[in-house]
Amino acid sequence: MDLLHESQYRFLVGDLCLLVDRKDRRYLLTLKPAEQFHSHSGFIEHDDLIGVQEGATIKSSKGSVFLAVRPTLAEYSVMMQRGPTPIYPKDIGAILTYGDIYPGSRVVEAGTGSAALTMALLQAVGDGGHIFSYEIREDFLEIAENNLLKFERLNRAQLTLRNHDIYQGIKERDVDRIILDLPEPWEVIPHAEISLRPGGILVSYVPTTLQLHRVWESLDACPGFGLIEQFELIHRPWEGAKNSLRPSHRMVGHTGFITTARRVEGK
Ligand code: SAM
Repeated sequence: MDLLHESQYRFLVGDLCLLVDRKDRRYLLTLKPAEQFHSHSGFIEHDDLIGVQEGATIKSSKGSVFLAVRPTLAEYSVMMQRGPTPIYPKDIGAILTYGDIYPGSRVVEAGTGSAALTMALLQAVGDGGHIFSYEIREDFLEIAENNLLKFERLNRAQLTLRNHDIYQGIKERDVDRIILDLPEPWEVIPHAEISLRPGGILVSYVPTTLQLHRVWESLDACPGFGLIEQFELIHRPWEGAKNSLRPSHRMVGHTGFITTARRVEGK
C-alpha cells in the first residue's frame, strides 16, 4: 500500500471512532484533541487515536485492549442519538432491496424519525439521487439532522427535510419510490397514488398485524396499486468459539412487517 493511500485510513480530528473491547462492548466517540474517553477499564486519550490507522488496537490507562475502527452505517444507526425507534439494519437491508432503491432515484420518505433509514436511502441513491423526507415533529428533525451530519460520508445536499404532515399530501410528483414508517400509512396511499411515477414502488413498514392488514386492505381497494407483497424477516445471530458454533441465547424477536406494492394502471 502506498503512503498516500494508507493515510486515508488514519483517524483524523472529527472522525467517528468505534472502540470495541475484548468482551465485544462497544463505544462510539467523535475524536477531539485533548479529550479523554473513560470507561470502567480506564481512559484513552483521543490524541492517541488521532493519526492511528483504522483496525489498530490501543490500550487504556488500565491496560485493557480496544480495537479502533470506523463504524459502519449499520453500527452507527443502532448507536447514534435516538428520537423515535429507528428501523433495524436487517429491515433496512430488505427495504433497500425489495423497494429496489437504485442510484439516481428520487425517493419520498416519512417519517424521518432518528434518520436511520434516511441515511441508508441517501447512500443507496448515490450522487444523482434525492431524498425528500417528511417529519411532523420539529424536535425529531433536529435529532435526525444531528445524526446525519455526524456520519460524514453522506451527501447532505441530496436530502430535503420537510417539516410537514404527510397525511395532508405529498408535494413531489413523478417520484420513483415512497417509503413509509409511520403509524397510519394507509392515510398516505391516496397521495402516493398521485405522486408515484408509473411502475414506482411503495414500501410500508409497520410493527403490528392490525396495521399490516389495514395496509393490505387499503392497497387492495386502490386501483392504482398492484403486486402487493407482505413479509417479515427473522435475524438469528450465531456465536462462534474454538469448540462450538451455536445461535446466540438472545435475539431481537420482533421488529416490523414490510409491505411492497407497485404503481399500476388498473389490476
Ligand atoms: N424510520 C425512522 C428511522 O429509521 O429512524 C423512524 C420513524 S418513527 C418510527 C415514525 C416517525 O413518523 C416519527 O418521527 C413521527 O413523528 C413521524 N410521523 C408520524 N406521523 C407523521 C405524519 N403524519 N407526517 C410526517 N411524519 C409523521
